[in-house]
Amino acid sequence: MSDAADPLVKSPANADGPRVIEAEVYPGAIATRLDHAINWFRESSIWYLLFATACCGIELMQTGGPRTDLDRFGAVFRASPRQSDLLLVAGTITYKMADRVRLLWAQMADPKYVVAMGSCANCGGLFQRSYSVVCGVDKIVPVDLYLPGCPPRPEALNEAILRLQEKMHGERWAAKMKGQA
Ligand code: SF4
Repeated sequence: MSDAADPLVKSPANADGPRVIEAEVYPGAIATRLDHAINWFRESSIWYLLFATACCGIELMQTGGPRTDLDRFGAVFRASPRQSDLLLVAGTITYKMADRVRLLWAQMADPKYVVAMGSCANCGGLFQRSYSVVCGVDKIVPVDLYLPGCPPRPEALNEAILRLQEKMHGERWAAKMKGQA
C-alpha cells in the first residue's frame, strides 16, 4: 500500500515530517521515538470528564453526538475524574463551585489538560461583574486552551480537540511526567 497520503509516515506528500513514524526500516518494521509513540497513544485516547455547569454544556453534549462525533478522534467522556485526562470547563463557574472544580482537577490522572469552553469559562462572560462568578477558570486551575464564543459551536470544540492533540504530540512525555515540560 502506498504511504503517500498517510500522515503517519514520512513521504514527499507529508513535507512537514512524519507525525509518528520516523522511517520504515523494511516492510512490516518501523522505527520511531518512544515519545512519539506514547504521544500518539495519548492523543488518540483523550478521555474528558463529564462536567458542565451551564448552557455551554448543551454544545458539549452536541459535540459528543452523532453529527460532530468526537468519538472518531478517540475522545470519549468518562464519569470519573480518576479516569479522565481532559477537563472541559463548559459554563459559568461560581465561587461556590470553584472548590469543587479544583478538587475534580486534582483528582484527574496526570498528565492532564484543561480547555476553557466559552466566554464564561474564559473570563466570566456576561456575568463577570457579578458578585458570585469567577472571572475565568484560570484563576482556579491552569488552562491549556481557551475557546471563545457564547456558546462556541460544536465545530469549534472539535477544532479545540484537534489543537490539543497537536499540543500533546509536540510534548516530551517523560519530561512532562517529571514536571519539566
Ligand atoms: S459562554 Fe454563553 S453559552 Fe456558555 S455558559 Fe456562558 S452564557 Fe452560557
